[in-house]
Amino acid sequence: MSDLNTFRQETRAWLNENCPASCQGDDNILPDILWGGRRQKIDEPDVQLWMDRLVAQGWTIPGWPKEYGGGGLSDDESKVLAEEMSAIGTHSPLYSFGISMLGPALLEYATEEQKREHLPRIASGEIRWCQGYSEPGSGSDLASLQCKAVKDGDDYVVTGQKVWTSTADVSDWIFCLVRTDSDAPKHEGISFLLIDMESEGVSARPIVLLSGASPFCETFFDGVRVPIANRVHEENKGWSVAKALLLHERTMLAGGPGRASTGDQKRTLLQVARDSMNAPTGPLPDKAVRAEIAQTEMDQMCYAATLQKVQDAAKAGKGMGPEGSMFKLYLSELGQRSADLRQRLNGADGLIWDGDEFHPEAKESTREWLYSRASTILGGTSEIQLNIITKRVLGLPE
Ligand SMILES: Cc1cc2nc3c(=O)[nH]c(=O)nc-3n(C[C@H](O)[C@H](O)[C@H](O)COP(=O)(O)OP(=O)(O)OC[C@H]3O[C@@H](n4cnc5c(N)ncnc54)[C@H](O)[C@@H]3O)c2cc1C
Repeated sequence: MSDLNTFRQETRAWLNENCPASCQGDDNILPDILWGGRRQKIDEPDVQLWMDRLVAQGWTIPGWPKEYGGGGLSDDESKVLAEEMSAIGTHSPLYSFGISMLGPALLEYATEEQKREHLPRIASGEIRWCQGYSEPGSGSDLASLQCKAVKDGDDYVVTGQKVWTSTADVSDWIFCLVRTDSDAPKHEGISFLLIDMESEGVSARPIVLLSGASPFCETFFDGVRVPIANRVHEENKGWSVAKALLLHERTMLAGGPGRASTGDQKRTLLQVARDSMNAPTGPLPDKAVRAEIAQTEMDQMCYAATLQKVQDAAKAGKGMGPEGSMFKLYLSELGQRSADLRQRLNGADGLIWDGDEFHPEAKESTREWLYSRASTILGGTSEIQLNIITKRVLGLPE
């Protein structure tokens, strides 16, 4: 029997013994995503048990080295594990910016001490991270950022503001770009700092969005003391770390689970159309609607197949490279197209987003549609992705 077959048998046996029955199958009680962090509360004892066992096995992030809380599995073994989990209808719900973005950047740039301090706490879900990149006036032109860090003894003193910091109000730590040399060319005066959100002088103010949700914040640093030991990579070389992390972010946005699907998203486009057209069986009465649903679903399938092919070819822990921008661009625009169609199919129900008298699924759908506007902005706008594709994938002149 090949090593991989032996591993498959062992994995199957381990899952059989350790995955609670309630965490398996189509109706399993697992949430799509658990973001982790000190504030996370898991009410279901079986979910907690499953998480504890996955963490002990290193299988929340099977490809990371064991000494950093991972499972030390090869790409092929990780794939077998994913297949075996999928075969019994289970998954590891832990997912976070730490897993998808910061962890891979730390593996590449952090000191051994930093890796041993931070990676295991990401893998166990103990610490939830947020991303302090954007500032008022520095979004697409990120390198123009102004949040300052000045050395004082063994610390930096950080003063300034970040904006659009997703989940800053519920995160434990923030990875942050700060200016450590104001006289150098803009890309060469930036450092990458890890900051505990409980440090004195850090505050986060939620921003309420069009959709009514408040997933991100303004984050303020008012003379915050951060140990120099929390700087990743050399002083003023933070842009290299920032860029590596952005590649991981785009890879995540191109294919990670992203946001948990809610209510209405569980109905297919066809089901929504059947419900709103009162056509429970047979072909839908409107040919144009039929064609549009078919086109959208074919595009989704083609995207998934292409992504799978690229992911299979990519090495574990590494992003896709600048090609990730093509995937991010396409998926965010396809997501908007699909959300628009879903809204139109919802008919009059698509006009509402609040009120107890309305169907909860339709309200969710409206909120999802409103939120979908953000997907072509976050992680770099579509125009910025096009610039990257032009320059770094196609090699065209500026
Ligand atoms: C839901 C959401 C979550 C986010 N989460 C985070 C987070 O956790 N942490 C964080 O740091 N940031 C976060 N962001 C911020 C995000 O990274 C920025 O919004 C994004 O980079 C765009 O920057 P901006 O909003 O300042 O727009 P601007 O940079 O001001 O852009 C305005 C417009 O000008 C266009 N434009 C700008 N420059 C160029 C150019 N060179 N060529 C062509 N067109 C150009 C843009 O495409 C856009 O249409 C989040 C944003 C959203 C929407």
